Amino acid sequence: MKAAILEDIKKFKIADVDAPKPDNNKVIIDIIKTGICGSDIHNWDAGEPKGLIMGHEFTGKVVNPGSRTDLKIGDRVTALPISPCGNCEACETGNPQYCSETWTHAIGLSLDNPGGLTSTIAIRPDMVLKLPDNVTDEEGAMVEPTAVGLHAVHLADIRVGDKVLIVGGGIIGLVSAMFAKLEGAEFVAVSETNEARGKKSVKLNVADDWFNAKDENFLNNIFTKIPNGFDVVIDCSGTTKAVESELMTVKPGGTIVLVGVSPKPIEFASVIAVMKELTIKGAIAYTKEEFKNCISLMANKKIDVMKFVDDIVPLEETQKAYERLTSGTDDAVKIMIDPKK
Ligand SMILES: [Zn+2]
Ligand SMILES: [Zn+2]
Repeated sequence: MKAAILEDIKKFKIADVDAPKPDNNKVIIDIIKTGICGSDIHNWDAGEPKGLIMGHEFTGKVVNPGSRTDLKIGDRVTALPISPCGNCEACETGNPQYCSETWTHAIGLSLDNPGGLTSTIAIRPDMVLKLPDNVTDEEGAMVEPTAVGLHAVHLADIRVGDKVLIVGGGIIGLVSAMFAKLEGAEFVAVSETNEARGKKSVKLNVADDWFNAKDENFLNNIFTKIPNGFDVVIDCSGTTKAVESELMTVKPGGTIVLVGVSPKPIEFASVIAVMKELTIKGAIAYTKEEFKNCISLMANKKIDVMKFVDDIVPLEETQKAYERLTSGTDDAVKIMIDPKK
């Protein structure tokens, strides 16, 4: 079977790989759709680890249920791509995102567990979740990034009437903006350096306004509109410049949630955090509960995530899709790969 394999800095090759063999334990699925994630772009940028088959956001059809007796061939499923140990304190308290094993063998993020940029993959049974009939294939592949946004917004503790700034209008930013409104935020703004993405956040009706972070009057523009600053700022960018501006635009006593993953250390003037008595929190991944919540929110039509899906392309166009997502001018936030296309 064909796979898109990370070969070098910003470079994939399409090559043949072996299909996973049934072992009476793992659930084997045929990939229907796989989303490209912002975190995948870090690996692509670095060209490391070589040989990686990415794709941790997917919907698939069961071809071998392994040890999951409740599943049958043909069932549509998605899965938490993580690999928590299952018996440490974090795992036992429902927080697999804290488990030290969570990323070690993660699907699409580790060399020993290829992700969805191919036709067929094997998943450990306890991470597989069956999709209800009224959740589409594309929605199934959106569960993972949606759960990242839900987790960030849960940690942000937004209260009815709050003013919220989302820094970075990629998919996690847009999903977080959507949930911030659901949590009762009165005003949600997105800041972006890519004008097309900024405008899109308003057009998709997840943000009330957007601010151009490249504009030299960026901070002035914000304070003209929101003189007292934001109650909550959610960072979905992970750059020093972004975090510096977040310290300025958050209210005294406010909260900054850091979701953006920076491969490099971020420097900021901690004295501002001290003087403003800020709460700065990190947010990584999701709990299993939040992952399930997203599936049921989709099934019950409480959220519309399809509006975030820009394009679905064949495996051969993986390289082009990554280039489009990192162009800095294209408004695409979520491109999916269909290996059968
Ligand atoms: Zn993801
Ligand atoms: Zn654990």
